[in-house]
Order: sequence, then structure tokens, then C-alpha cells
Amino acid sequence: MESKEQFIGVNSIKFYNRFQSDEDCYKYLANIKWQDGYVCKKCGNTHFIKGEKPYSRRCSKCKYDESPTGGTMFDKLKFSLLIAFHIAFKKSTKKKGISSLEFV
Ligand SMILES: [Zn+2]
Repeated sequence: MESKEQFIGVNSIKFYNRFQSDEDCYKYLANIKWQDGYVCKKCGNTHFIKGEKPYSRRCSKCKYDESPTGGTMFDKLKFSLLIAFHIAFKKSTKKKGISSLEFV
């Protein structure tokens, strides 16, 4: 189980090592999003099957498919999630002067 707290203090070398593909980013967001367990947004069901997108989860009851980016600033991106991560990381280090990210 991971949380966004782990991002605080992460330096750019660690960041670049950790996020090398879109999949790494989806995995990270999925870990945060469902860190307390999965609950379907539509019907409250706690069982899921694999969704259509990488690391998305589909409700086993109502078939609602939820992506790890849903409801975050990375929803409906026109470009790669990896690029978005790098932009967000650069922005956050610039703004606060320290390497921290708050995605959700
Ligand atoms: Zn459902």
C-alpha cells in the first residue's frame, strides 16, 4: 500500500527512476485512489474485475469502469500521462522549492 505522502521529499532522480512509463503513473494513481479499498462510485459494490484501461477497475455488479485518473487533475488528458507527471513534478518543485507532489 502506498500513499501520496511517499512523494514528499522524493528527489528528481527518484522521480525519474520511478516513473518511466504511463503504466508506472497509472499504477501510482491506482494505489492512491484505492488505498482504502475499492468501492464502486455508482452502486457501492466492493468487488471489481479488471477494467478496460491500464489499472482501471470495473464493478462486478453494475460494470461501471473507473480509471485511476478519474476525478483527478489527470483526467481526460490529451497527451501521455507520463508527460503530465513530469510537468506536474516540475511545477511542484518550482512552486514550493521542494520536491513534493499532491495529485489528488
Ligand atoms: Zn457498481
